[in-house]
Amino acid sequence: MSQTSENGYTQPLRQNFTEDEKRFPWLSLLLDAYLIIDEGVSEAIRREQKQGHPLACAKGCSSCCSSHQDIPVYPLELMGMSWYIIEKLQPPLRQQLKQQLKNLDTVNSCPFLLDSACSIHPMRPIACRQFNVLNKPCAEGEDAFHTRRNDVITPIKRYADEAFDIMLPFYGIKKKAERRKAIKQGAIHSAAKVMRDCNWQSMPEKMSAFDKR
Ligand code: SF4
Ligand code: SF4
Repeated sequence: MSQTSENGYTQPLRQNFTEDEKRFPWLSLLLDAYLIIDEGVSEAIRREQKQGHPLACAKGCSSCCSSHQDIPVYPLELMGMSWYIIEKLQPPLRQQLKQQLKNLDTVNSCPFLLDSACSIHPMRPIACRQFNVLNKPCAEGEDAFHTRRNDVITPIKRYADEAFDIMLPFYGIKKKAERRKAIKQGAIHSAAKVMRDCNWQSMPEKMSAFDKR
């Protein structure tokens, strides 16, 4: 689920949506937080590679997007995903995703997996960004977290904490001391929902309404 090229992990870059970020200040928080998460993933991969453990995740490898049914997603991330799907997704993925979301009952993979690739890649949630596997690609249906935990990269806590610290003002936790306490208590985690269970069926109608503007 990583941001990979054929040769390994791509250098993390912050996505910039200048005009949209003026309209939606929460979007800047999310994009800043995603950059920190990606930098943490990059650093974790670098450390593993130094020890001779190559990254298995690569472009086109996506069985994890079918085998994981309980991917957590935070409210701010849901807003980012919804915004991206409604306002930014371009053809032909736009039509393909619209169709898939209309028939979600028949889809066994993540709602956003199209042709073995993530259709919302720039806005995929933290859980997807952080799930990376070493040594060999996952077999069809394999959840490496259960079959070979040692091959799943453990995210570096410092980066995750920093990313959550950036996002906490969105949840009304603004003061530094309060943010520190919330991170220590893991308060934000109770707000997470299971991505598969969110109301994605409402998206096609919203996409069509946006297209008619
Ligand atoms: S190796 Fe596993 S976790 Fe990595 S992209 Fe492939 S299926 Fe997903
Ligand atoms: S959002 Fe879905 S398709 Fe995209 S990386 Fe995550 S599980 Fe895979």
